[in-house]
Amino acid sequence: MAAPCYLCGTDSVLDGLCTECYNKEHPLIQVESNLGLTVCKRCGAAKTPEGWKTLALSIDDADGVLEAHLNLLLDISVKRLSKKVEISYEVTNRLDKSLYMILIAAGCSHVSLPHHKEHHEIQVRFAYETCRTCSMMSGGYYEAILQIRADGRPVTEEEEEEITALVTELTIAAYGKDKRAFVIGSSSDKYGVDYWIGSEHLCRRIASRIETRFLATRKTNYKLVGQEKGGKDRYRITVLVRLPRFGTNDFILIDGRPCLIVSMDLGHMNCYDLIQRTRFTVTPKSVKWKTVEFLASGSVRREYMIVSHVHGQPVQLMDSKTFEMAEVEEAVFDGVIPVGETITALLLEDSGIILPLPAHNTEAAEN
Ligand SMILES: [Zn+2]
Ligand SMILES: [Zn+2]
Repeated sequence: MAAPCYLCGTDSVLDGLCTECYNKEHPLIQVESNLGLTVCKRCGAAKTPEGWKTLALSIDDADGVLEAHLNLLLDISVKRLSKKVEISYEVTNRLDKSLYMILIAAGCSHVSLPHHKEHHEIQVRFAYETCRTCSMMSGGYYEAILQIRADGRPVTEEEEEEITALVTELTIAAYGKDKRAFVIGSSSDKYGVDYWIGSEHLCRRIASRIETRFLATRKTNYKLVGQEKGGKDRYRITVLVRLPRFGTNDFILIDGRPCLIVSMDLGHMNCYDLIQRTRFTVTPKSVKWKTVEFLASGSVRREYMIVSHVHGQPVQLMDSKTFEMAEVEEAVFDGVIPVGETITALLLEDSGIILPLPAHNTEAAEN
């Protein structure tokens, strides 16, 4: 025979209380019924006790932004009094600057009691301010200029596209961690591209990535632009990244031997020696790097049809555009010589020597 609950008189189950009274006395969560959140209208960042917190989604996604704001606010404002409480909410009314919701907490107030739900009516008021990042951006603030140039040639459209994609990717990755992770503008002309970047740190990171991707070199210049409040000099940096004269698919001389650049990335270059028919890797730290010379752009490659071949004799070729006939030694082919097929090769203008490209590279060039 259980004693009666000292609050309501029904049978008690725990600490002299019935289940319902025990749950009321031991709520699952503690939360104020009036909450407020300050947000940035431009980017959706929300002000938290630790400072502005940026959202990892587009401001145009209104439902997503509201959900992110409410989740953030509940994270800050709800105190969980019991372990394993699940929190959900239902918006009941939404006005311009305020919102009403029912907050639902589900869990157990004591291990011996069944799972139950608790409802809390909450009003949320929104206030609007421009966050630090947005005010710096609109004020034209930037710490660094990233300049992309190429050695003895213009920066190609493909390079500009790839670099812009890299700038975007790394800026988004730094977003929320670095308050100045923004690019206020860019400009391109016949020499190359410039990006104005909010954060010096971000600019250096982007420069490093481009450096290893294209085996580029970089130079950093400082320019005095004023003084900080404490009288300390304030500098703006310009990071000049210079892409090499050559890129993937171009021809270079290494130790005086004609080579094809098969690919370049992560600080190294994969090459193919067109005479020895071997592959090898070069990095700017290799001894060979100092002997690298630009030979010809990848666009000079020509197509030849293999007309005939008698074992032990030179292979007969015909230039697919000019129909000129030519001969090459068997040794410059890798394995089977495909008579009747078209191959891609480099013609050394000075000597008239034709150097077939490796077979898989021929396919890549055609696709
Ligand atoms: Zn009771
Ligand atoms: Zn903002």
